[in-house]
Amino acid sequence: MDFTVGEAATGLRGELRQLVTAEVPPDFLGAFTDDPADLAVAQSFCRALADRGLLCLAWPEEFGGRGASVWEQTVVREEMWAHHEPRGAQYMGVNWVGPTIMRHGTAEQQREHLPPIAKGEVIWCQGFSEPDSGSDLASLRTAARPDGDGWRISGQKIWTSYATMADWCFLLARTSRGERKQQGLTIFLVPMSAPGIVVRPIRAMIGPHHLNEVFFDDLRVTEADVLGTVGEGWQVVQEVLSFERVGIARYARCERLLQAAPAVLGERWGEVPAQLRGRWARMLTHCRRARLLAYRVVSLQSAGTVRPNDAAAYRIAVTQLDQDSAEVLVEIAAYAPLQEESQAEVGRFRRAVQDHWRYSQAATVASGSIEMQRILLARAALEAR
Ligand SMILES: Cc1cc2nc3c(=O)[nH]c(=O)nc-3n(C[C@H](O)[C@H](O)[C@H](O)COP(=O)(O)OP(=O)(O)OC[C@H]3O[C@@H](n4cnc5c(N)ncnc54)[C@H](O)[C@@H]3O)c2cc1C
Repeated sequence: MDFTVGEAATGLRGELRQLVTAEVPPDFLGAFTDDPADLAVAQSFCRALADRGLLCLAWPEEFGGRGASVWEQTVVREEMWAHHEPRGAQYMGVNWVGPTIMRHGTAEQQREHLPPIAKGEVIWCQGFSEPDSGSDLASLRTAARPDGDGWRISGQKIWTSYATMADWCFLLARTSRGERKQQGLTIFLVPMSAPGIVVRPIRAMIGPHHLNEVFFDDLRVTEADVLGTVGEGWQVVQEVLSFERVGIARYARCERLLQAAPAVLGERWGEVPAQLRGRWARMLTHCRRARLLAYRVVSLQSAGTVRPNDAAAYRIAVTQLDQDSAEVLVEIAAYAPLQEESQAEVGRFRRAVQDHWRYSQAATVASGSIEMQRILLARAALEAR
């Protein structure tokens, strides 16, 4: 299979790098720090991307995109993650919320939600996991009880990324009980400002504004808030997770940091033990492997086949790479000189490596743990026999 991204995508990469250099401070390490300036950078950067038609460029024009190829969208994803995701939380809207609303939303939902995402104006959060329902998501207990022409939702979500700053929640709740626990689940699109929603931040080492608990107390919703068909949300969730699992190009940041190491260390690179340099080289080949697995899924998705096990194979490779490369980089960073002219560059490299290491610890849990990805893959392999 030919995975050449094409000339347009290569030109786009150059354009994005110029834009990042112009709009994102060199010390930026993500939007969710204690410094509000970092979130402001992400918000203004999203508007800059949107002004140039780059934020949702692979979306159809009628929804605010420019109908570009999925390969161009892949390049955006790679360049963003390689530069510590200057879109902040917006990547969720672009990668999976918008595409899911395009596939399953009513015309009115599309009119209401897609233009603000394409302009970089709204932040979404994903209300799936609960305290006792993570890997076994279908066992969730947040309940939507019938109430006149709608429902009343009560329950609790946890590990909800960006909930403190989100405008909307993509919420999964139980509307009925079927023979199987996957039946009777429904997706609701709810504004986070609605009465009955309380958000409580969870401070964690991946950033103080990342993870949250979200409580729903008699939240009133109607048919107009339902995405897709009542009771059939599980199918949509499978699609969402496949999109989400290839949405973060973790290999791009690993590769950029690994490739930067020899130049940052300068003459000290020669002091790095041969065994460690061997591991460094192996990590670069693992970056290539993860990139190819991602391209395979993108190619399948563009042909309309969204299979959870293909996304799982990529996730296993890329999350393992994230953690292994972080270990190698931490060891290499110990050889970086501290008291020399290159101090600013070395300091920046060390901080980026430290940030990468902290984030990588959660990589094998977020969006479904690595063990669950292995189960998905094994099941698909056994079924194919
Ligand atoms: C950084 C981060 C961001 C997140 N953001 C969001 C978000 O925005 N929205 C959201 O809804 N959720 C979010 N999550 C939650 C995430 O989806 C869950 O943490 C994940 O699905 C695992 O669920 P759990 O934490 O309940 O762990 P559990 O399901 O309790 O699993 C604990 C451990 O047991 C293992 N295990 C469980 N069942 C089996 C089994 N049958 N066989 C073998 N091993 C098993 C798991 O692999 C894991 O190692 C986020 C998580 C992280 C770390």
